[in-house]
Amino acid sequence: MANPNVEVKYTKLFINNEFVNAVSGKTFPTINPATGKVIAQVAEGDKADIDLAVAAAKVAFKRGSVYRNLDVSARGRLLWKLADLFERDMNTLANLESLDNGKTFDKAVADVYGCILTLRYFAGWCDKTCGKTVPVDGGNFAYTRKEPVGIVGQIIPWNYPLLMLVWKWAPVLATGCVSVLKPAEQTPLSALHAASLIVEAGIPPGVLNVVNGYGPTAGAAITSHPDIRKVAFTGSTDVGRIIAKAAADSNLKKVSLELGGKSPLVVMDDVDVKEAAAIAHAACFENHGQCCCAGTRTFVHEKIFDDFVAEATRLAKERTVGSPFDSNVQQGPQIDDEMFNKVLGYIECGKKEGAKLQAGGKRHGNIGYFIEPTVFSDVTDDMSIAKDEIFGPVQSILKFKTLDEVIERANNTTYGLAAGILTHNLENALVFSNAVEAGSVWVNCFLAVTCQTPFGGYRQSGLGRECGEEGLELYQETKTVSIKLPINH
Ligand code: NAP
Ligand code: MG
Repeated sequence: MANPNVEVKYTKLFINNEFVNAVSGKTFPTINPATGKVIAQVAEGDKADIDLAVAAAKVAFKRGSVYRNLDVSARGRLLWKLADLFERDMNTLANLESLDNGKTFDKAVADVYGCILTLRYFAGWCDKTCGKTVPVDGGNFAYTRKEPVGIVGQIIPWNYPLLMLVWKWAPVLATGCVSVLKPAEQTPLSALHAASLIVEAGIPPGVLNVVNGYGPTAGAAITSHPDIRKVAFTGSTDVGRIIAKAAADSNLKKVSLELGGKSPLVVMDDVDVKEAAAIAHAACFENHGQCCCAGTRTFVHEKIFDDFVAEATRLAKERTVGSPFDSNVQQGPQIDDEMFNKVLGYIECGKKEGAKLQAGGKRHGNIGYFIEPTVFSDVTDDMSIAKDEIFGPVQSILKFKTLDEVIERANNTTYGLAAGILTHNLENALVFSNAVEAGSVWVNCFLAVTCQTPFGGYRQSGLGRECGEEGLELYQETKTVSIKLPINH
C-alpha cells in the first residue's frame, strides 16, 4: 500500500555487512521532489570510505575465502534468497523509492517486480556460465575458463535507483565478483534498505558494499582506485566520458557504460492512429520522461500527421500529474530543481526555435518539481528539442514522407540506445530494424526491456550490454589453458 510516511530506517554507509558512519562524519540531505523538503540526512562517503569498502571487498574475494569457496549453486541460492526478501519487503522498497525519487507508487512496485525477476534470472546463470574445450592445432588439450573479474566499482543514476542497483548486483553475484556501489546522490534511500537485506540473505561480508556520496568525490574514488578492476556505470554521456578517462588514467580498468539516448519512434501510415498515439505517449512519458531509452523523437508519416498530433495532444492534456502516492496520478515530479529547470529551459528553447506547442509547456502547481506533460509538433531535425536528451516529459513530433528518409533521419544522432517502428508491414519493420543503429529495436511496442535480453547502446549511448547472457561477459575474464599431450595420443 502506498504510504508517504514510510519509515526511513537506514541512512549510513553499508561496508563489510555493517551500517557505518562516514569516516569524515559528514552527511548530506536527500530531498523529496514532490515537496522540495528534506527527507533525511544520509552519511556522505568519499575516498576514505571507498578505500574501506574496497579493502573489505578484497578480503571477500581472496582465494580461499568463504565466498570464493561457495558452491556455484549456493551462489545461485543467495540470489534467490535476496529476491525472496525483495518480495517480502516490496511495500517498503516501493514506498522509499516513490518518496525519494518521485515516481508513482505503482511504477515503483513494477520496478521492484523487475528487480525480483532480474535476481532470479541471474540466479540461474551461476552454474550455467562456462568455458569450452577447443580443438587446436598442435594437438594440445585446450580449454577456456570463465573467471570473475574481481573487485568491481559500480556507479548508478537516480531514475531507476533500485532496478539499476539490481542490474549491477545480480551479475556480480552470478559471476562470483565483489562490488563497491555508489547510488546517485538524489536517491540514496532504497539502496540502503536493499543493503539491509544482504546480511539476511546470507551474503558474506564485503561482497556487496554501498557507499553513498557525490560523484566527484566518492564516484571519482571508485573510478581511480588501483584495486578496482572494472567500473560499471549508468548515467549521462558526459559523466561516462569522465569515467572512461579516469579508468584509463588509473589502472586501465575495464569499463562498461550505459548512457543517454534520443530514441526515435517511427509511426507509419498503416497504423490505427489512436493505438499508435497511445504507444508513443507511453514511450515518451514513462517515468516522467526520465528514461534513458524513452522514445522522444516521434516521427509520424505525413498522411496521418494531423490526426496523430490531435490524439497525442489529447493524451498529454489528460495525463494526471500530482502526488506519486495518489493512485489516480500518472506522473509525479522531476527529480530535482536542476533537472526541473533544465527541462523548462528546453521547453522555452522549443518555443523560440519555432516548434508548435500543442500541450503543457509550464510548471504544474507551485511546490515541488512538477512539469506539465508537453507536446511539440512541427519539430525539425535541427532544433535542440530534436537533438538533445531533455530527460523530462516533452514529446517532439516530426513529420516524414518515406521510410528511407526516416531511417536516415533516425540515425542522424550521436546516440544509439533504442528505436521503434509502428507498422503492419512486415517488410518495412524488418528494413527499419536492420538499418537503424540502436542497441534495442521495438516493433509495434516500445520499452520492451527484459532481464533476459541484452540492453545497451551503439555509439555514444554506451559500451557493453547489461542483462541477458551478454550481461555476464562484462564481469568475466576468459582464460585459455593449453596442456601439452604426447604426440600420437
Ligand atoms: P549522471 O549525472 O551522469 O550521474 C550518474 C552517476 O554518476 C551518479 O551516481 C553521479 O553522482 C555519478 N557521477 C557524477 N560525476 C561523477 C564523476 N566525476 N566521477 C564518478 N561518478 C560521477 O547521470 P544522472 O543525471 O544521475 O542520470 C541521468 C542520465 O543517465 C541520463 O543521461 C540518462 O539517459 C542516463 N541513463 C542511462 C541508462 C542506460 O541504461 N543507458 C539508464 C539510466 C540513466 P552524483 O549523484 O553525485 O551526481
Ligand atoms: Mg531524493
